[in-house]
Amino acid sequence: MTRSAEMTPFQAVTYHFEQACDRLGVRDEVRALIITPDREVRVEIPVRMDDGSLKVFIGYRIQHNASRGPYKGGIRYHPEADDEEVRALASLMTWKTALVGIPFGGAKGGVCCDPRTMSSRELQDLTRRFTHSIGNIIGVNQDIPAPDVGTNAQTMAWMMSAYSEDHGYSPGVVTGKPLELGGSPGREQATGRGVSLVIKEAARDFGFPMEKTVTAIQGFGNVGSWAAWYLDQGGCKIIAVSDVNGGVHNGGGLDLEQLQTHLGSAGTVQGFEGGEAITNEELLALECDFLVPAALGGAIHGGNAADVKSRMVVEAANHPVTPEGETILNDRGIPCLPDLLVNAGGVTVSYFEWAQNIQRFPWDLGRVNEALEQILIRAYREVSIKAQQEQIHYRDAAFDIAVGRVAQALELQGFP
Ligand code: NAD
Repeated sequence: MTRSAEMTPFQAVTYHFEQACDRLGVRDEVRALIITPDREVRVEIPVRMDDGSLKVFIGYRIQHNASRGPYKGGIRYHPEADDEEVRALASLMTWKTALVGIPFGGAKGGVCCDPRTMSSRELQDLTRRFTHSIGNIIGVNQDIPAPDVGTNAQTMAWMMSAYSEDHGYSPGVVTGKPLELGGSPGREQATGRGVSLVIKEAARDFGFPMEKTVTAIQGFGNVGSWAAWYLDQGGCKIIAVSDVNGGVHNGGGLDLEQLQTHLGSAGTVQGFEGGEAITNEELLALECDFLVPAALGGAIHGGNAADVKSRMVVEAANHPVTPEGETILNDRGIPCLPDLLVNAGGVTVSYFEWAQNIQRFPWDLGRVNEALEQILIRAYREVSIKAQQEQIHYRDAAFDIAVGRVAQALELQGFP
């Protein structure tokens, strides 16, 4: 089966949601209210390119649910960003914020563009125009964007600046900002650090001594590279990493410092001399303890899940394993730690950043890291205990906890 013959990303998230509703006995009215996004905005973004031509980009902001707090979720710049993908990611944010118990709902944004081929001026123009177009639906207490694939702290600085032009100085309107503009210490590393914290807890539960484990990571951007760094620090050997161009493999462990130097000059992990070249598909089929997909959705699907040879799959990316792929992994006894738990470190420190911004009171790195660790380990424990007690998969346990909290928040507020 190929990925394209499977459920779309939004159908996949909805499938997990419906299953949780069935297990929890959520009323049909409540399901109907939660299932589709509260609001979907599509905007045209005209940008004068450096060569003088005018290009029209399409951007989306989709707000899924705000029963537990303001909408929250990243903005993705990618050539394949579309409303279907953004809708799925928005829904996933609702479950992620509920699972870790932070007071936000779920949203996501995206612009269909290729940031790697655009100049800094073009990207700034695009970001400012996009922000002005969605300026009336985002806000410090309304909807708070953050970085995702193809965007970074600089993008957030431009968004904050453009929003502040219309609404007054508003650092709390976005998170993932540079430190100088009210960003939080530890935010850049937070998702990758969270991935490593969850892996450490799982390793303890499964009786894998960290210093004897080996990990392969697909995607070496913000999440993948920081996850690799923290795992390496914790004694785990990183035997392979990849990016969109391909990967490198070294069974004895990659030297991450040398790899970062290579990445800095070459712009890709490809061609690194401290390992041999492998393809992304070969990486997914490596023998290892933890296989960490940290790139895009749908990496492990019905067509390749039978090739996976890791002892566990850890979803650092959003929805990297399709339901069809997961069924095969489950049948083969390979546990899958779900995205809404594994990569929740980013939105958790985004919450700390937002809290610091609205209180005008900065935290130090120690406080951020300690609070992140507490929240993620508590969430991991809740999921793992539920999975064991009820003999269900980790994803089902995570969805049950999250959907239960959102449904309860909605019921308590009442509706017509
Ligand atoms: P990024 O843009 O920094 O890095 C993405 C990496 O994936 C790059 O190395 C890129 O080359 C690689 N990649 C892209 N397409 C690929 C392909 N087809 N095959 C293999 N590699 C490919 O993005 P990021 O912020 O690290 O996000 C990665 C994933 O984690 C995404 O699914 C994102 O939604 C999710 N996520 C990110 C955060 C965050 O805080 N940045 C938080 C939660 C979840």
